[in-house]
Amino acid sequence: MKLGIIRCMQTEDYCPGTADFKTIREKKGVFEGVEEKITLVGFCNCGGCPGKKAVLRARKLVERGADTIAFASCIQKGTPIGYPCPFAKKMKELIETDLGDKVKLLDYTH
Ligand code: SF4
Repeated sequence: MKLGIIRCMQTEDYCPGTADFKTIREKKGVFEGVEEKITLVGFCNCGGCPGKKAVLRARKLVERGADTIAFASCIQKGTPIGYPCPFAKKMKELIETDLGDKVKLLDYTH
């Protein structure tokens, strides 16, 4: 799996992404059961509210080889402060519309 991660720009102040890297390394969370090697090709944020730039960033991740993009748990689960992104659904829809079957989307990481 060639993985790109998109995370919440607002959450960067609270989180260096450690749990995501550990989850990938240990193949836990959404990566449980993945047999193939997971290579992280990029780790970026959504570009800030309301997440419109996430489409451009997803495109760039795919250009750099990502076959899968995970939305970090800060987006849909709201970790670590319990504040899910109010634009998460729309952001995912826009990326799905733009990239279609070029990439698989995962709704969380851990
Ligand atoms: S659009 Fe959502 S994911 Fe992006 S910064 Fe705003 S709250 Fe965070």
